[in-house]
Amino acid sequence: MAYIEMKQIVKKYGTTSVLKQINLDIEKGQLVTLLGPSGCGKSTLLRCLSGLEEVTSGKIFLDGQDITELEPRKREIGMVFQQYSLFPNMTVVQNVAFGLKLKKKSEGEIREKVKNILEIVGLSQQADRYPTQISGGQQQRAALARAIITEPKVLLLDEPLSAIDALLRRSLQNEIRRIQQELNITAVFVTHDQSEAMVMSDMIHLLYQGQIEQSAPPAEMYLHP
Ligand code: ADP
Ligand code: ADP
Repeated sequence: MAYIEMKQIVKKYGTTSVLKQINLDIEKGQLVTLLGPSGCGKSTLLRCLSGLEEVTSGKIFLDGQDITELEPRKREIGMVFQQYSLFPNMTVVQNVAFGLKLKKKSEGEIREKVKNILEIVGLSQQADRYPTQISGGQQQRAALARAIITEPKVLLLDEPLSAIDALLRRSLQNEIRRIQQELNITAVFVTHDQSEAMVMSDMIHLLYQGQIEQSAPPAEMYLHP
């Protein structure tokens, strides 16, 4: 059994099927990319996995458990979005510590874990700054730290780099990939950028109009010119 199994997922808005019988298996520790043009259903599929959206039909299993009906916060899924995901009135440290505070961890444990994760994402120097006082790339690294500090079962990355300028994007791609591999995080990454999918992924699933057209590792992917 794969770590994540999505079976026959259908999502309809009214009478329109946005996801049409999606079957998707994801192995533990892999970074899997959903690639496809705007409107093909990538975000909808992520939201079904996170529970922010209910499936119309189908089943989702995570680590052997049926999570199809489970509320979002019980799914143990971390998320990083395109932008605006940090709390603006909290410093980097406060943002990153947030999930552990919710879980009522001790001050000592929180301090230790936050220190460690800020080193991993390279933000130790920015610990006491507010989101508006750091660059876009740094904000996304803080968002990543905040998402992974609670050790979620899955990390969802919804176009996390599309608001970052092209030069910085490449180094952040490498950095996210390094952290994901180092910590053995199972991740689902959404992008419409083919070259980004090629450098980031263990597996790419090409979505088109709510269906998976092709699934392959980057080296075996056939992409339309
Ligand atoms: P992508 O992430 O690939 O750009 P989305 O998953 O956001 O695509 O959207 C897939 C399709 O579903 C689009 O045609 C979009 O207009 C439609 N859609 C998304 N959310 C809703 C909604 N809440 N109500 C109706 N249609 C929606
Ligand atoms: P990165 O490449 O890590 O995203 P930058 O090269 O943009 O960071 O920024 C370099 C330095 O400038 C960092 O120490 C960062 O804290 C600081 N910095 C970046 N943007 C801002 C800002 N808007 N206000 C204050 N300091 C900033």
